[in-house]
Amino acid sequence: MAARTLRIGLIPGDGIGKEVIPAGRRILEALPASLGLKFEFVDLKAGWETFEQTGVALPEETVSVLKSDCDGALFGAVSSPTKAVKGYSSPIVALRKKLDLYANVRPVKTVVTAPKPIDMVIVRENTEDLYVKEEKTYDTPQGKVAEAIKRISQRASSRIATMAGEIALRRQKIRAGGAPSIHNGPLVTITHKSNVLSQTDGLFRSTAREALAAARFQDSGVAVEEQIVDSMVYKLFRQPEAYDVIVAPNLYGDILSDGAAALVGSLGLVPSANVGEGFAIGEPCHGSAPDIQGQGIANPIATLRSAALMLEFLNEEAAAAKIYAAVDGNLEEGKLLSPDLGGKATTEEVVQDVLRRL
Ligand code: ATP
Ligand code: MG
Repeated sequence: MAARTLRIGLIPGDGIGKEVIPAGRRILEALPASLGLKFEFVDLKAGWETFEQTGVALPEETVSVLKSDCDGALFGAVSSPTKAVKGYSSPIVALRKKLDLYANVRPVKTVVTAPKPIDMVIVRENTEDLYVKEEKTYDTPQGKVAEAIKRISQRASSRIATMAGEIALRRQKIRAGGAPSIHNGPLVTITHKSNVLSQTDGLFRSTAREALAAARFQDSGVAVEEQIVDSMVYKLFRQPEAYDVIVAPNLYGDILSDGAAALVGSLGLVPSANVGEGFAIGEPCHGSAPDIQGQGIANPIATLRSAALMLEFLNEEAAAAKIYAAVDGNLEEGKLLSPDLGGKATTEEVVQDVLRRL
């Protein structure tokens, strides 16, 4: 079989992004040749430093190279100014729009660092809801009033629920392959607040239900349940082991995914992917962590897992599984952990340990 070559854009961004993205590159390069995968890397710019140097946070070239010349990308983190700066806006938000990366996928999983086993994926709709940013402020005799539009479409709700169903199936397949699991069967939980927002969240709910009723999900035993977002938060913290795949509109998904990340001990462990049709950007959940930048102690695991997650969406599940297993091995043994996990290892030592396990 001829090797498949994947071209991957590397966007380190700012702060510890510059320390962890090279680790992501190394793990991809170290995958065994027997997988039949080759990588080519393209270095690309974005972020606050890029803005200071060039006046734009997301150069046109970065977008066009990703669009025309890459299969996927790894994105580190970008610092944002504490006050609004004219002309500056978040490059990752812009990238999601320009590349129509309509899903934000965040697996949250414990190995040994939490008291309870957790193994869930939050699938967040990424293009609409309150984040369409259509806001206005106007004066009334009683003072100012501000309004924002919450937009939910059938198309966006349907494709995100379908993706959640596909992810549930893929996880089921991986478990069937013998991977240890805390779940019995695939389960998708639809999150909404349609008891109050009967039209917007009501449309999300009914559309997601319909999408997940498709034969290919039902025939494979994908169970579907619903949960109102406020009680979801409660249960997420009390009984996180009950969740497999969660699908949510943009705002609830944003909040739930940060809350879930808090369950596993360190931001340095949690990966994510921004996914569109045939394209995925892996992105660790943490920010640029200015408090530890330059010290060589950033935990690279969120990025290594993000690289694996990107591979999953490029249909390279076997390669992804190798990376996950190597990372889990490092965590389970617990001898070479970075300081955020209570260890003393440097970024380099963690990377070396994971590479050795590959
Ligand atoms: P930003 O504005 O870029 O989001 P931040 O100050 O919010 O930066 P985060 O990156 O969000 O910082 O991190 C929050 C906390 O978690 C910081 O104390 C940071 O040091 C820690 N942290 C985040 N990522 C990692 C990592 N990969 N390894 C170790 N510690 C981390
Ligand atoms: Mg932050």
